[in-house]
Amino acid sequence: MKRVLLALLFFALTAHADVLALRAKRMLDVERGVIVNDPVVVIDGDHIKSVGREVPKDARVIDLGDVTLLPGLFDMHTHLSIGRTPDTKPADYYGGPVDHALQASMNARATLMAGFTTVRECGANDFIDVALKRAIERDVAVGPRITPSGYQISMTGGHGDNTGYPPGEYELTPKQGVADGPEQLLYAVRYQIKYGAEVIKLMVTAGVMGYERTATARQFSDEELRVVVEEAKRNGLRVAAHAHGTEGILAALRAGVDSIEHGSMLNDEAIAMMKAKGVYLVPTIYLTERDEEVKEEMPAVMREKGAAVGAAARRSFRAALDAGVKIAFGTDAGVFPHGLNAREFSTMVKLGMKPADAIRAATISAAALLGVSDRGALASSKLADIIAVRGNPLDDIKTLENVVFVMKGGVVFKGPAAPPSGPPAAPARD
Ligand SMILES: [Zn+2]
Repeated sequence: MKRVLLALLFFALTAHADVLALRAKRMLDVERGVIVNDPVVVIDGDHIKSVGREVPKDARVIDLGDVTLLPGLFDMHTHLSIGRTPDTKPADYYGGPVDHALQASMNARATLMAGFTTVRECGANDFIDVALKRAIERDVAVGPRITPSGYQISMTGGHGDNTGYPPGEYELTPKQGVADGPEQLLYAVRYQIKYGAEVIKLMVTAGVMGYERTATARQFSDEELRVVVEEAKRNGLRVAAHAHGTEGILAALRAGVDSIEHGSMLNDEAIAMMKAKGVYLVPTIYLTERDEEVKEEMPAVMREKGAAVGAAARRSFRAALDAGVKIAFGTDAGVFPHGLNAREFSTMVKLGMKPADAIRAATISAAALLGVSDRGALASSKLADIIAVRGNPLDDIKTLENVVFVMKGGVVFKGPAAPPSGPPAAPARD
């Protein structure tokens, strides 16, 4: 009897072996920018144990066949709490925070299924990004790893404020990120951090999607910008600066931000300063094509601003690329539907970026901007965040728009080894 029990115990242990061997025809070594044939990625729990060619004895094997393995992708600029996915219907009502949170959980799922296993939020109302992160970590919702920002920090009438309404309506407070002067700004930043922000999003110029007259006007004084950046740094947080116009970009760089979002009007001085300080450009450049596609649906003021900023942004992207400015992948998803994030790649490549560099921007470089070393490459001891595409992304960057396999932390969410009914909120861990 004892022997039977032992045998059963042994069977149970081996049948539920934590070690998994992932096989495929190809793997992209993002560090070297080359394809490796017939890789075996060995996964132990939520981490990669080794990358080689041997299948360990007793490992459970998932053979994905004719696909290319890559590290899970990063999007450094998302708004999961706004917008929707291509397959959800537009709302014909004004939703509140609960409506937006429910939609956000669908948006997060679509983002993960598109191969994005890590996102950095760049402005979310009602701390929906914080709640979403927690829900995902507890297997209550399905989605990527999230670095939440809370509300974006904006001056009164700035790009994070509600504009276009009569006085007294939809006015925001420092708790919602709208603040003026050092005292209010300190409170606004501390409030975001208190409720879970892990990055501070700072609006340094006007923008396209709002009723400000120009998209490029500088916002905040030097002193105000400095106060925000210093307070973020004291708390160990990085600062992402939304900036289209040159004057705002330069002011943000002088204040010590870590990334310039959009960066539509970079001049030589800005490029030199970004290089000297190691500041990243997060170009969100697919938007410049998207604005063209949907211009009929946009209010005239936004359409005109979008067209003007778009042409400049494409020139700036090329100039930054030529100068060797650090570039991290980001999309502004939410402004366009979630799950289409990978379209950014082909715009980057169209504008002159090498496919391997575009993929590095969404893996190694994004991890560096985020300040994490536990992911971004397929290598031993990294988190088992792994995706697969059918073709070779170095030959056809668009293959990244059709991700066929997604694993996050060793759990399969999409692909042949995923549960047949699709990923449950709490994925089965066998
Ligand atoms: Zn944005």
